[in-house]
Amino acid sequence: MAQGLATNALASLQQHMAELDDLYASMGLLSWDLETMMPPKGAESRSRQMATLSALAHRMACSPQLGDWLSELEDKAVQAALSETHRAIVREVRRAYDEAVKLPESLVTALSETTSAAHLKWVEARKSNSFEVFLPSLKQIVKLNQEKADALGYENSRYNALLDIYEPGLTVATLDPLFADLEDKLKPLVAAIAQKPKPDISFKQRTCTKEQQKALCQRLLEAIGFDFEAGRLDDAPHPFCSGSNPGDVRLTNRYLVNDWTSAIFSALHEGGHGLYEQGINSQFAGTVLGGGVSLGIHESQSRLWENLIGRSQSFVTFLMPLFQEQLPEAITGIDAKAFYRAINIVEPSFIRVEADEVTYNLHIVLRYQLEKALIEGSLAVEDLPEAWGAGMNKLLGIRPATDSESCLQDIHWAHGSFGYFATYTLGNLYSAQFLKTARNTLPDLDTQIQQGELQPLRQWLQEHIHQYGRLYEPDTLCQRVTGEPLNAQYFINYLQEKYTALYAL
Ligand code: ZN
Repeated sequence: MAQGLATNALASLQQHMAELDDLYASMGLLSWDLETMMPPKGAESRSRQMATLSALAHRMACSPQLGDWLSELEDKAVQAALSETHRAIVREVRRAYDEAVKLPESLVTALSETTSAAHLKWVEARKSNSFEVFLPSLKQIVKLNQEKADALGYENSRYNALLDIYEPGLTVATLDPLFADLEDKLKPLVAAIAQKPKPDISFKQRTCTKEQQKALCQRLLEAIGFDFEAGRLDDAPHPFCSGSNPGDVRLTNRYLVNDWTSAIFSALHEGGHGLYEQGINSQFAGTVLGGGVSLGIHESQSRLWENLIGRSQSFVTFLMPLFQEQLPEAITGIDAKAFYRAINIVEPSFIRVEADEVTYNLHIVLRYQLEKALIEGSLAVEDLPEAWGAGMNKLLGIRPATDSESCLQDIHWAHGSFGYFATYTLGNLYSAQFLKTARNTLPDLDTQIQQGELQPLRQWLQEHIHQYGRLYEPDTLCQRVTGEPLNAQYFINYLQEKYTALYAL
């Protein structure tokens, strides 16, 4: 009898979540359209459509029936009888449900209204290079995020509640020592590289049409195994990947006039996200398991293709004949060695998104320390520019002169996303640990990459990571794939080996 009831509860819960997934997928497609295709005069009706769908989705996400089905399915005896997949579904629905019901409607509305207005203020503040313009909005956003953390609940640090939203289980107890260790090991590496001559990168500004760049990116995406029957590549001001199911994954890219190499790496980055989405077991489509398990794991897939593969010597060997064929003028007089050095230039800089792979994580350490202090209340929002300058100086030895090149550079805070930045570093760390493991079973990987045979690596990633979607939580997945928990040493070793050779340290 009890088991029969649970079977009904499971079927009803899955039906409910499949409908909710359809709503989210439709919203995703409308957002993709807004960024890529929508004519400007469509903005007003689009924002109304999005508001209607969000309200519907929110109502479904906190439906009391869902709570009833969950309690039934969380019964000990029922749990023991469920399959691994069904137990994971119950776990993930519980996570989403708790988050939806714990946040009072008034707080959700306040956050959405405040961040809509804050976005405009942030744009204005950047234009006028004045933190003062953004300050009142940011104060409100920090306060609302503190309330959000309180509503969600936490142990020890208030910031833990926000970290957990983007990376299940992530806490300051993990991140404090991890970031301290990264700081200790990266700073001497950056300092050693600074003593060496810089490579010549002027050829990146040579003329290369958008069509040439795009055709090359298309070819590279095909080479890594992105399925154009199950995805697209379109233009947008900012590269991104949005996927609603393995059969429909949308990538965007942009093509710069002052650096034709940039599009290559953003295509590989978004392509890495896209392969993850396309590689998820199609039986999970429409269920709560049908997506990447966390932002950190997702970013590990993009960074793996962008940096560990894309900026490797072997990949450059594969690229050179493609350049000769598709954009010969841009590469005239540049050999593989010069290109490899130019795409791996290391230099402390102010802007995170333009940072190289050695200094990048120091930008994240800074944001982590500041966010944590803001949310815990030990740093006043007014004091942010000063704290930013001091932190930047301590971490990278440079001090920004303007607000636009310091605390106004990222959109995350204007969006209300506190707790997000750390996942970028987790992605870098996971990528090195995963690739190290992959190399154990792919001993010819470098030769394969040189010849443009990238399928063995993609298949390895699909078999060990992509196919599982959200079946395993990030820690469990990492343990299953690599045999140990997240270990930053793999990333440190990767950087030290690569840059010691490259800069003759
Ligand atoms: Zn990414």
